[in-house]
Amino acid sequence: MPDFAHLHLHTLYSLLDGAIRLPDLMKSCAETGMKSVAVTDHGNMFGVVNFYQEAKKHGIKPVIGFEAYVAGEKGMGDKSQRVGNHLVLLAQNDVGYRNLRYLSTKAFTDGFYYDPRVDKPLLKAHSEGLIALTACMAGAVPRAVRRGDMDEARREVRDLKAIFGDRLYLEIQSNALKEQLPVNHGICALASEEGLPLVATADSHYVKREDAKAHEVLMAIASGRTFDGPEPKRPSPGLSSLGITSCCSSVRGVGVMLGSSLGRTSRYVDDLRVPRRAAVPTRRFPVVHSTRTPVATTTRV
Ligand SMILES: [Zn+2]
Ligand SMILES: [Zn+2]
Repeated sequence: MPDFAHLHLHTLYSLLDGAIRLPDLMKSCAETGMKSVAVTDHGNMFGVVNFYQEAKKHGIKPVIGFEAYVAGEKGMGDKSQRVGNHLVLLAQNDVGYRNLRYLSTKAFTDGFYYDPRVDKPLLKAHSEGLIALTACMAGAVPRAVRRGDMDEARREVRDLKAIFGDRLYLEIQSNALKEQLPVNHGICALASEEGLPLVATADSHYVKREDAKAHEVLMAIASGRTFDGPEPKRPSPGLSSLGITSCCSSVRGVGVMLGSSLGRTSRYVDDLRVPRRAAVPTRRFPVVHSTRTPVATTTRV
């Protein structure tokens, strides 16, 4: 699978969720012959400079992105309900990279409610140079498919198509979750109905199967859960090894031809130039009181 590139992947910068260290990621890319790889941390671009430098050092093409949280119809300023549908965004070129930075910043300064959120009007205004993937089962399209509401799924797909045009990819995922297979089938049906391309991802959160436990510990810290209390252990999300073989063989189960979609996105991405150091703004930022418990109660963004 020479063209394969992981396009949906969480590092340690997906705070208390991703368990992938950048040096381990680069080692895995070298071992599997992956020539490009994306990092799509949850809601932030904190790791971009390190990722870019590590990738360049190892001769791997970095695809820069993040997994956005998209607020609902009431917009990113609304705090009456917690809506944050996942959507993977990848920078296709320098304009896209600038838009990514803008969207991530606005999500923290104007859209923070549980998570840093954007909304569809903001995406529409800053979609140039960005590729969008419909994300995991916490994305609006897969979520509707999982409920069996194909009309709503179709509406969401058309909304996203109006924003991203031919840079929208419907995402099917390889993981051990039993709910994923019917979702993959529904998404394949939508792709064929709407004439949109598919892309297969692993939504990787750790490098090797044996790292699953470490990932589970991170999740437990994030949710304030202990391993020896009366509360039953939440099963590991089962996503996530970087194994290309398992990813491809599992996704083949949906019976679609993926040869042209796997890796295609990475060939459509320009080489970007990222500064050696992160730009630190000089303006004062507001103090945001985090609504997430029990971790930090106050966060300065
Ligand atoms: Zn997700
Ligand atoms: Zn993800």
